[in-house]
Amino acid sequence: MSMRVGLGFDLHRLEEGRPCVLGGVTLPHPTGPAGHSDGDAVLHALTDAVTGAAGLDDIGTLFPDDDPRWKDADSAALFGEAIRLVHAAGWALVNLDVVIATEGPRIKPHRPAMRARIAELAGVDAGAVNVKGKTLEGMGALAGGAGVAVQAVCLLESV
Ligand code: MG
Repeated sequence: MSMRVGLGFDLHRLEEGRPCVLGGVTLPHPTGPAGHSDGDAVLHALTDAVTGAAGLDDIGTLFPDDDPRWKDADSAALFGEAIRLVHAAGWALVNLDVVIATEGPRIKPHRPAMRARIAELAGVDAGAVNVKGKTLEGMGALAGGAGVAVQAVCLLESV
């Protein structure tokens, strides 16, 4: 059996009046990730982690936003398609782990819902998905709720 690790990263500004969709869950917060579609930086980072581990192209190449199939597509649909491609390439998901760095929405109260939703989309048990929130200690361009940065890793095993 062989194993592969994958790393993903994403960054979005948080803007007034946008729905705050992170990890496939809509959080009650006055700002949300900017970007086309829902701007779900968690699912974007996870998409790059799983496709990266499988040796596939990155999110922007697989799902170009000038392709009518993916224009304004729900990030959950992109992540679901990435999981399908990973399976088709002969890999099974072992686990996913995510760090969400933001001073916008509080992450901790929503960890169980995010873990459950990501697990549902990935077709694994919620125990194989973890999500942590971090503040930025008031430092840098994302401080004060200006944005959200996400790191994601995944482990795949050959089937
Ligand atoms: Mg993104």
